[in-house]
Amino acid sequence: MESVAGHARRAGARSCFCLAVVSLLALGLAAPQAESGLAISASRPSILLLSIDTLRADQLGLYGYPRPTDPALARAVGSFTLFTAAFTPIPLTVPAHASLLTGLHPRELGLLNNRQGLAPDHPGATLAQRLKAAGYRTAAVVGSGVLAGGPTGLGRGFDIYLDPAPGEATTRRTAAEVNAAVAPLLEMGEEPLFLMVHYYDVHEPYIVPDRLACLLRADPVLEDVLEQRRLRGVAYSKVLNRRRTEPLRRQGSEITLREMVAQYDAAVRLATDQAALLLEMWDASRSGPESLVIVTSDHGEGLGQHGYWSHGMNLFDETLRVPLLVRWPAAPRASRRQLGQVSLLDVAPTVLAAAGLEAPQDLPGRDLRQVVAAGGDVARQPLVAQRMRYVPAQRPPGLRNWRAGDGFAVLDGPLKYIEEEEGPPTLYDRAADPLEVNDLLRRLPGRRAQFHNVLAAWIARYPDRLVWPPQAVDPERVRILRSLGYVDR
Ligand SMILES: [Zn+2]
Repeated sequence: MESVAGHARRAGARSCFCLAVVSLLALGLAAPQAESGLAISASRPSILLLSIDTLRADQLGLYGYPRPTDPALARAVGSFTLFTAAFTPIPLTVPAHASLLTGLHPRELGLLNNRQGLAPDHPGATLAQRLKAAGYRTAAVVGSGVLAGGPTGLGRGFDIYLDPAPGEATTRRTAAEVNAAVAPLLEMGEEPLFLMVHYYDVHEPYIVPDRLACLLRADPVLEDVLEQRRLRGVAYSKVLNRRRTEPLRRQGSEITLREMVAQYDAAVRLATDQAALLLEMWDASRSGPESLVIVTSDHGEGLGQHGYWSHGMNLFDETLRVPLLVRWPAAPRASRRQLGQVSLLDVAPTVLAAAGLEAPQDLPGRDLRQVVAAGGDVARQPLVAQRMRYVPAQRPPGLRNWRAGDGFAVLDGPLKYIEEEEGPPTLYDRAADPLEVNDLLRRLPGRRAQFHNVLAAWIARYPDRLVWPPQAVDPERVRILRSLGYVDR
């Protein structure tokens, strides 16, 4: 059977821009639709969208983690709906945020890496554009130069988009610095506010105060976590994609995987403490009452599972599963847990619904209004995620589990099917095998066709708009990405 990923790559290489435009026109995606034909509700709540970069869902107490990584945030979101099975369409910062803001798949956006941005002529409108056209004030404060509004194209539609300036000594801001920049934005203007806030503290290198790092390093429960994840005794030096550990390197001794997980957890605690302060500040502001509030992340972090530390290279749950917490305006304030599978692509239609705007029919995500406001159930629906595309020349020497070309995953309830351009496909039952280590296709090869066909239909439905191979990237953009630790993404 032909590899779908391989076919998709070859088809992508053959496709031309004109054909892609024609296909998008057929799908009704070729024109921003915020200005035309959309009903505007008399009631337009302010909207806060908080993205905590690289925040793995199961590293939060809210999601069952047995360590104190989020006590303040857990209190602050006590009346929110918590989605237990939310997934990113791609475990990489720029394309994931582009999908979050447009509601479109990275494949439709032509964005599969951090070096490229949303093309200036791309027809997909962002939430900021749609909400601004509907009379909202729009503002964003981001914690990292990787999300700089200009090169990523994500600044479009925002009245104010505050990113770390390229000339600054550092291209990242702490969550506390982000909050400080947010404060004066909350009371500006009379119109409802759409505010996107982005924290970067949980992204490597994990820079945290010694006090916090020591607190989370000393916790004996960490041993149980490593045991449950089959990571006890694994040497950090054997884990792939280790980078930016210099601030943590101690004189004469090797950093352990346990210490690195503790450092990540300390960064989570730092960010969630600030998130709680942000929510408090938001609720106390003019924008806060009866607003829509969404807390999520763009992807998780490997933390040593599948022999991999970081994110972007594979499609396992440690990097795909993200927290998603939603508070609907004027809905009864009661904590609820939703077990149904949802996607970051569902955020855009949900935000538009809250603003009284009709989402374009061709947005692939679902409006979760009924689920959040009235406690309805999420209908079961397969999701497709993909990872960054690599060319063979990028193959790092000596790395296992590194595969060139495209990679896709079909998520359907507990089952996850992974098909990559290199290597055999695999299938996991995450209910029985949450660590995704037992490939069901070895004993049930007949299951492959079912998922392969779902993936093939998805690929046929969403034309690949990626400019490939990548065009020349601005050297200043490359410098910023390298300063943030990005080497190949
Ligand atoms: Zn990210």
